[in-house]
Amino acid sequence: MSRVVFEKSVSGRKGYTLPKLTEAEKSCRLRIPKKYFAKEPPNLPELSELDVVRHFTNLSQKNFSVDRNYYPLGSCTMKYNPKICEKIAAMDGFASLHPLLPQLRGGGMLTQGALQVIYEMEQLLCEIVGMDAFCLQPMAGAHGELTGIMLIAAYHKKMGNRKTKVLIPDSGHGTNPASASIAGYSVVSISTGDDGCMDMDELEKALDSEVAAVMLTSPNTLGLFNSHIRELADKVHSHNALLYCDGANLNALLGRCRPGDLGFDVMHVNLHKTFASPHGGGGPGSGPVGVKKELIPYLPTSVVVKRDDGTYALEYAKDETIGFIAPFYGNYGVILRAYVYILMLGREGMRRVSENAVLNANYIQARLKDAYSFPYDRRCMHECVLSAERQAEKGVHALDIAKALIDMGFHPPTIYFPLIVKEAMMIEPTETESKEQLDAFIDAMHEIARQADENPDDFKRMPRSTPVGRLDELKATKDMIFSL
Ligand SMILES: *Cc1c(COP(=O)(O)O)cnc(C)c1O
Repeated sequence: MSRVVFEKSVSGRKGYTLPKLTEAEKSCRLRIPKKYFAKEPPNLPELSELDVVRHFTNLSQKNFSVDRNYYPLGSCTMKYNPKICEKIAAMDGFASLHPLLPQLRGGGMLTQGALQVIYEMEQLLCEIVGMDAFCLQPMAGAHGELTGIMLIAAYHKKMGNRKTKVLIPDSGHGTNPASASIAGYSVVSISTGDDGCMDMDELEKALDSEVAAVMLTSPNTLGLFNSHIRELADKVHSHNALLYCDGANLNALLGRCRPGDLGFDVMHVNLHKTFASPHGGGGPGSGPVGVKKELIPYLPTSVVVKRDDGTYALEYAKDETIGFIAPFYGNYGVILRAYVYILMLGREGMRRVSENAVLNANYIQARLKDAYSFPYDRRCMHECVLSAERQAEKGVHALDIAKALIDMGFHPPTIYFPLIVKEAMMIEPTETESKEQLDAFIDAMHEIARQADENPDDFKRMPRSTPVGRLDELKATKDMIFSL
């Protein structure tokens, strides 16, 4: 970008020259017929490098990001992304790769390193979560869920099982029922018991021969670990159904417990939430799917294999595959950053991630108990869910508290999710924050609780620190719908 802009501003459009191709690039150049060549260079805007730098620097400062502020957005895991991951992902050999480059050509090894990363990442994920094989192609958690449920459907079809239903707890992420129904199943919702976990009696009643799978989030969206999971897995398996793990939030389990050992048959992992890749605003993500042996034949195509001579290749020929679920090989940049992060931390580092993620969430829960209510008052995992019901009695709702936090320089936690908690605020501190930062957030929450008691009316005018103040969300939604 800067090269083009600079050359043009100095020597005019005619001075623009294409960068020189390397020999390797020349050998795989596409042969485009002359008639499709443009006669004139593109009519690009004339801007100086300084104008461009100012524009993007200003834009970047309008962004709320982990690099600037505390961001305890529950379930989304906005943790710090180490810069070494960015640096390696930006290396020319990775960043300039084209997915259509040949795997091996004339002794050249144009994509061998990239294929090796995919191959080794699959092995690492198998080891971390206790599965037998992984597919890295799904582009997000929700896409991983859909892929996983399609694998379950392919398995039951092959076995000749007539299955029509998927059971999902009422605390589940909205993508769970969406994925199950897109894959063709009807969804049955199971209530949450007083311990914050799936009601076992209700599950027992709902389990019949038509149940294809039970989809569980572990730890669940209340931030709680289900200690009856093995028993639950046995029940599910005894009805010839499979157990799916929504592993979007793996931070509490890393290096401690493997869903594959707990009885789960299929799971997805959100690389962007667990293995530190920048995400938000809808992308980019990566939701690899791991499976036990029985489901390997149905995995999407293509698969990276390691040949006897040590080279890597893409293998397409599989009879029972569910087919292509994404163009090419997934969100490669996210996979690569996660791979760097895993190698950098190692086994011991990953244990420390889960230790500190859980410690930080419990610290916040313990210190906020005097001011807010916690409907499931148990030790939590990587996140805690409070209810602002005490504040709501005075007219200060979770939404108002979220807006007040913006004025205090914090990104609000996730609000009104999980749906089963009234006035829910779901706080995920992540392991990367210091005690000083956690204390500052806790102080802000205490200050808000005090103000809610004394001056509840003030909250409706918050936030005051943003250019537009409180958005009229109803009007914004209506405007959007009527402008379509
Ligand atoms: C984030 C999340 C998902 C969806 O992941 P995306 O990458 O946003 O599609 C699914 N389940 C849970 C529990 C999540 O937290």
